[in-house]
Amino acid sequence: MKCLQIRVENFRNIDCAEVEFVPEVNLFYGNNAQGKTNLLEAVFYGTIGKSFRDNHDKNLIKFGEELFSIHLEYTSDQENARTQTVDFRVMDKKKQILHNGVYVRKLSDFVGDFRTVLFCPNHLSLIKEGPAERRDFLDMAISQLYPNYLKALQKYSKILQQRNKLLRDAKENREKYRDILNQTLEIWSDQLAAEGAVISFYRWIYIQKIDVHVRNVFMVMMEGNERTEVSYSPSFGQKVLEQVVSELEKPDETDQRRFQAVKTAFLQKVEDLYKKQFKEAKEREIGAGTTLYGAHKDDMVVLLNNREARLFASQGQQRSLALAIKIGEGEISKQVTGEYPIFLFDDVLSELDHTRKEYLLRHIEGKQVIMTSCEPDVVQNRDIRIWHVEQGTYRLEE
Ligand code: ATP
Ligand code: MG
Repeated sequence: MKCLQIRVENFRNIDCAEVEFVPEVNLFYGNNAQGKTNLLEAVFYGTIGKSFRDNHDKNLIKFGEELFSIHLEYTSDQENARTQTVDFRVMDKKKQILHNGVYVRKLSDFVGDFRTVLFCPNHLSLIKEGPAERRDFLDMAISQLYPNYLKALQKYSKILQQRNKLLRDAKENREKYRDILNQTLEIWSDQLAAEGAVISFYRWIYIQKIDVHVRNVFMVMMEGNERTEVSYSPSFGQKVLEQVVSELEKPDETDQRRFQAVKTAFLQKVEDLYKKQFKEAKEREIGAGTTLYGAHKDDMVVLLNNREARLFASQGQQRSLALAIKIGEGEISKQVTGEYPIFLFDDVLSELDHTRKEYLLRHIEGKQVIMTSCEPDVVQNRDIRIWHVEQGTYRLEE
């Protein structure tokens, strides 16, 4: 997959900019606070209709303006692939999306078509950060590959909000909300369990793929024989998960019929587990005024030599593991969709030591990269296009 061009208007500090990319390395360099990350953020926005550093679209609109727009042109790596376009026009609470000029009703109908893998300095602390960061990573990566995942996530978050509101109300005034609690809590719980099971399924299969890639990448990158293991940790516990999946076949995506059978069996079992958990936790949840179990409490656990890397690995090892996870994300995208996504590096090369930087550069050879840096010579490559960035403008270097 290649990004050919972007046109941006009223996005962050960018008034109006048009940039054509080369299929190899595209470098944007300049001083701090000039608009390097802003441009990368605009490309990334085209992937999932959301920024990677702000959940509120409003903050992305240029100060004093009403809306921003992003126009992207991209193409698949297949022979004779046609150029595709996506347009986002975003106001405070409204988002319009056009794919190849045709209005897209739901974001989930588009997401997955224009795929990127983002590396930013934050990602290097993916291991030592909390579970929320790891869930964000999973959500961004899995949404691009499985549209049903994004749909389930969106529904889950709406149901969770309603359920939490009910629990909060009941905590404050049990008498007043007794009837509504009796009538609706179970309905919310069942819906949350159903969507949560879908999320769990995709996280479970995705993390198994991550595990394989991290093992390979880490071995080569670190030239050692340290053992890594990445596993899914749902709120009902890893032991229970192991029991559930021990009764299932391995999910094989090359055989859709069997894959669907594994998925159905997994969903049934896990939905029941969530329902049981909600039933048992009812009083505790009312006492807490919030939902204590479910997919919004998931984590991805990384072990190094059988010990939890978050607690025991050195800072350097944690960064290598994080890098291996992000490289794995690109590999999985290739495996599932047949082509590499576009790699976006936000100031990440300068954060890496020589070994890791060399490994990463070797790895991305032949793939499209859009990167930012304060220095123009952060990477030596003969097929590189370099822009100087100043106050939201992008000037091509001769
Ligand atoms: P660094 O090297 O420090 O990472 P950068 O070139 O990547 O710098 P950006 O993150 O792209 O910098 O931000 C550039 C500028 O955009 C900042 O000065 C910031 O104040 C400004 N900015 C952020 N949001 C908006 C907005 N909504 N409207 C106008 N300007 C904004
Ligand atoms: Mg920046």
